[in-house]
Amino acid sequence: MYSKPAELDDNSSVYKTLLESTKAIPWKIDWNTMQFAYIGPQIEALLGWTPESWVSVDDWATRMHPEDREWVVNFCVSQSQSGVDHEADYRALHKDGHHVWIRDVVHVVRTDDGEVEALIGFMFDISERKKTEQELAELQKQLEEYSFKDGLTGIANRRMFDNVLEESWTHALRNSQPLSIILMDLDNFKQYNDLHGHLQGDECLKSVASLLSKAAKRSRDLVARYGGEEFVMILPETDADSALTVAERCRELLAKAEIPHGGDNTGPLVTLSMGVGTLIPSRDDNPKRFLDMVDQRLYEAKNGGRNQIISS
Ligand code: GH3
Ligand code: MG
Ligand code: MG
Repeated sequence: MYSKPAELDDNSSVYKTLLESTKAIPWKIDWNTMQFAYIGPQIEALLGWTPESWVSVDDWATRMHPEDREWVVNFCVSQSQSGVDHEADYRALHKDGHHVWIRDVVHVVRTDDGEVEALIGFMFDISERKKTEQELAELQKQLEEYSFKDGLTGIANRRMFDNVLEESWTHALRNSQPLSIILMDLDNFKQYNDLHGHLQGDECLKSVASLLSKAAKRSRDLVARYGGEEFVMILPETDADSALTVAERCRELLAKAEIPHGGDNTGPLVTLSMGVGTLIPSRDDNPKRFLDMVDQRLYEAKNGGRNQIISS
């Protein structure tokens, strides 16, 4: 009968030392009994449970986050049954109640005639990596938010406006619903800056953005900063009369805010000129032409003496 050379016996204690001194946690499960044949003592430092407490696969499954358990167990069982090496990331339960992200890398050991005999694997602590991934995802989300937000006023920016106009246009076209837009431009704002300083000008823009946001009451309405001292509102499913009502509300809110202007040839308070437009989109139109039409009305409001609304 074949007998192992003596140096392999010597080596086995070396292997054991090596296995038990790495950060990866080795384990072995006997396929027939579904019992742990071995688990590295490092498991206790990582999850708090003693090596002896890992008796069967049930201990492994129950010490898993409930949201991960079903898919991880099903996945590992089916891969093992097919004899395929695999790996899974999941949250393992620490004895003190918190969860630790683990990557389990599994090798399926088969007998010479192909039967699954055992599973051996390593558990890796990947909590740091997961934390970094989560932080990156957060950052990504925040960047996305910033890229659609105007830095000064905190309302939507031009980019957001362009996207929402496109969407609202398509939606209104499909459903034959009216879509309204209000374009607004602060009157004599260059003079306001000259008189009160650029910083005060910034404050004024913030106040106007905030009160315009209050004037648009429906959840699908959008208030955006269109340019320097220009604002725009998209009012989906809004007919001409309702759009005019919203524009008037904007003017009233600004009047109530009583922001002093005090320039030559201007009224005593900061005011807005507005162009309002409404249409039910058709295939012959496009958002740009619609905007040009509303811009023309804004221009008429300026020419007509400012602080007024032109809606047709
Ligand atoms: P009108 O009534 O014809 O609109 O006159 P106006 O002076 O408002 O128009 P004009 O386009 O000549 O000037 C716009 C001014 O808005 C000039 C610019 O300095 C100011 N402005 C644009 N963006 C900002 C900003 O972010 N902060 C401040 N404080 N001022 C800005
Ligand atoms: Mg302007
Ligand atoms: Mg202006």
